[in-house]
Amino acid sequence: MIRTRIAPSPTGFPHIGTVYQAMLDKAYAKKHHGQFFIRIEDTDRQRFVKGAEEKIYQALDWFGLTEDISPRKPDNLGPYRQSERLKIYQKYAQELVKEGKAYYCFCSKERLETMRKEQQTVKKPPLYDQTCRKLSHAVIQENLKKNIPYVIRMKIPKNRQIKTNDIIHKNLVFNSNLIDDQVILKSDGYPTYHLAVVVDDHLMKTSHVVRGPEWLPSYPKHLLLYEYLDFKPPQFVHTPLITNMDGSKMSKRHGHANVDWYRENGFLPEAILNFLALLGWSHPQEKEIFSYDEFCQSFDFKDLNPISPKFNLEKLEWLNGEYLRQMPAEKLLEKLKQYLDEYGQIKLTETQIKSTVPLVQTRMKKLSDYWPLVEFIFEQPAKVDFPISFLKQAQSELFKTYEQIEWNHQEIYSKTEQIAKKLAIKPVKLYMDIRFALSNQKVTAPLFESLEIIGRKETLKRLKSVLV
Ligand code: GLU
Repeated sequence: MIRTRIAPSPTGFPHIGTVYQAMLDKAYAKKHHGQFFIRIEDTDRQRFVKGAEEKIYQALDWFGLTEDISPRKPDNLGPYRQSERLKIYQKYAQELVKEGKAYYCFCSKERLETMRKEQQTVKKPPLYDQTCRKLSHAVIQENLKKNIPYVIRMKIPKNRQIKTNDIIHKNLVFNSNLIDDQVILKSDGYPTYHLAVVVDDHLMKTSHVVRGPEWLPSYPKHLLLYEYLDFKPPQFVHTPLITNMDGSKMSKRHGHANVDWYRENGFLPEAILNFLALLGWSHPQEKEIFSYDEFCQSFDFKDLNPISPKFNLEKLEWLNGEYLRQMPAEKLLEKLKQYLDEYGQIKLTETQIKSTVPLVQTRMKKLSDYWPLVEFIFEQPAKVDFPISFLKQAQSELFKTYEQIEWNHQEIYSKTEQIAKKLAIKPVKLYMDIRFALSNQKVTAPLFESLEIIGRKETLKRLKSVLV
């Protein structure tokens, strides 16, 4: 059975990279009627952030990438939080020691520090010098008896070419002489990622380990651990490295690494998924816009391009705008309501939002563009900074007309145009002045439709207030 997983560490906000992995994992599992699960890798107690696990669930739910199995939805292969599995890792670590595939290392921090510095001076690679690999049985027993703190390191064999078999970074070969005797169990009894990931992916029956490219250098160590523990390795997929437009790494410092950023800025989860799907993958018919379900049908790990795709936020904005345009008005109303409830500056009624939807639907790229476009409909600007000379010229005609006409946008438009022509003013100049007077903005929702909603009384009041 296909079982894919994400294994986030609850060390901060949910990262967009985690969503990317989840999107691929879930798609593959769905296509093959498998399961997609979440394992919480919380063994780094120093970096543990309370509440981060819940934020991961919230993010996945928002994207519609809800998992089949996780600490909140366990099955019998759990527990799915690593901190609840310490005994399991300790047992395997001890077994490896017994079989001579791992060893106790009693080196102090200070000693390791000095060793590193010396290596740096002579420009040697920063590998552990294997002092404790050579300790005699008696010394080890003695140290254990004296309760000297220890870690457990795996023994990396000498002179081996370790062949890997990643689905997209095919057939990489690693020289074992350049691999460190990796710590697998720390002195506090917690495993490192390396031991925990191998043990868990085996016991949790992961069929495909899909993870970020930063783990590629660890891949040969993991393959050795699979061999040492006599486990059959799963398939590996190290996803391509997603970079910023300038080729730099997308790090936690970038606002858009955080999933919340997309939500706050009015992006739609379905548009983000579409955008993420296009990173390193293309639709068989070269389509740019497709649903997640469609992606699930056609996606295969082997079609991922290992060349680093660029994270182009402008493209995401464009896609998001397309999704907004194609959305039924009812649905857009729903989305706007939710968005404004969460992030809106003032409360608008459903009727108010509904009246403006047709005005803004084609003009928004993000839900956050809504308020700047319609703000003036609901609130008079505090001041007007633009010159309004054409409006001044047309004021008496305009007031007279606006007081009498039927108040709908066609009427307002045609009468305003007539006045401009009569006074030999370019109509667009007069429209612009009216826009300035009503909104103090250059860009707004369409003017005459907006005036209709603002109403005759309020329009006249605002025009008069800028002309005094
Ligand atoms: N805890 C690791 C991380 O957050 C998981 C990597 C993996 O998927 O194996 O990067």
